[in-house]
Amino acid sequence: MARLFIKDPLAILCEGAGGGIVVENGRIAELVASGAAPSAPVDETFDASRHVVLPGLVNTHHHFYQTLTRAHPAAIDKELFPWLQSLYPIWARLDPDSFRLSVRLALTELLMSGCTTAADHHYLFPDGLESGIDIEAEEARALGIRVTLTRGSMNLSQKDGGLPPDSVVQDEDEILADSERLIGRYHDRSDGAMVQIALAPCSPFSVTKSLMTASAALAETHDCRLHTHLGETEDENRFCEEVFGCRPVDYLEEVGWLGPRTWLAHGIHFTTEECARLGRHRVGVCHCPTSNAVLASGFCPVEALEAAGSPVGLGVDGSASNDASNLIEAARHALMVGRLRTKSAAAVTERGVLRLATEGSAACLGRGDIGRIAPGLQADLALFTLDELRFSGAHDPIAALVLCGATRADRVMVKGDWRVVDAMPVGMDVARLRAEHGAAAARFA
Ligand code: ZN
Repeated sequence: MARLFIKDPLAILCEGAGGGIVVENGRIAELVASGAAPSAPVDETFDASRHVVLPGLVNTHHHFYQTLTRAHPAAIDKELFPWLQSLYPIWARLDPDSFRLSVRLALTELLMSGCTTAADHHYLFPDGLESGIDIEAEEARALGIRVTLTRGSMNLSQKDGGLPPDSVVQDEDEILADSERLIGRYHDRSDGAMVQIALAPCSPFSVTKSLMTASAALAETHDCRLHTHLGETEDENRFCEEVFGCRPVDYLEEVGWLGPRTWLAHGIHFTTEECARLGRHRVGVCHCPTSNAVLASGFCPVEALEAAGSPVGLGVDGSASNDASNLIEAARHALMVGRLRTKSAAAVTERGVLRLATEGSAACLGRGDIGRIAPGLQADLALFTLDELRFSGAHDPIAALVLCGATRADRVMVKGDWRVVDAMPVGMDVARLRAEHGAAAARFA
């Protein structure tokens, strides 16, 4: 396999690699110090003197299908529960063709923003969409992006006291059987895996205790991760107290989820004691700053969770509450809302939010082979130029990505292969995708 030298970056988010890095066999083979040369001959050299090099960004929470219902009149200017109640009946119309386009669009958009690994939380399986996760696996493979596909689920509908309508839930046996099928077919536990499966009952207000407990047992048997929404709103706290007689973190413990296999989406409404408890058990949290701002949900206590021992990563969340799928933009939002929350500029830094989007997110997904630039790790990289007007006059190239508002990577590498070149995804007709996805979305008006 060819040895590629990514030479003399303008800046790189890695100590001791000022002269660049060597990539070989899909991995980072060597860090090159400033002014030094690679230790052995290379086959190819990429001049990175215009590029800021980051580890590939890792997205830890999304709902790809929601790209079909962005800025939807039924849902805008609402908070989570009424927002969901407006959208559930519209989402119930999801079909395989429009779903495939939504996945393709979300993954393409993520990739173009510098994302090299994406987790999706898919929990809608109306009749005809039984192969939803298979569709996601196919689309990710075609695009060459790494994914953690979570087999989401809902089985607590209105007739049983839950929030979603009866038409969008499945029964527990069906969910568990399909979860097992998907783990058997796709879950790759090896270093450098391109596809992993996780189990993801949707939220306390859409899933039974029994399904939560059974999912935890299944994850233990098959060594996969667990994911759910938790601590997103005060409405959820009230629901848990009324229905389960306890707060969400107590509920998590009761159903056997309080452990390092679990990462949660949002994690906002936790007390100091609950943050400490989650940290002690190494439960990961995906911070979704954009969605939390749009739905007026609140602020994730990132520093308290990290100090307690929880890995904290970054997510764009579904595109009906963001309404983008742009992870480098989410890093900027994490900085903005973090500083508003802490009232401290020093507590929330540019490099700190980039660490959430890389190392922190990788830890949430239980992966030690991605998220950093280091010898032996996967060659997943995001390269940004500072050529746009917005960057002119910027002095610290890494801080500039966050402060000046980078939105689009110039080059993206996954497992040693360039997947974005000159800011365009390789092999993807973006104009056609825009037209086809737009036409599909029109059916969800
Ligand atoms: Zn979500």
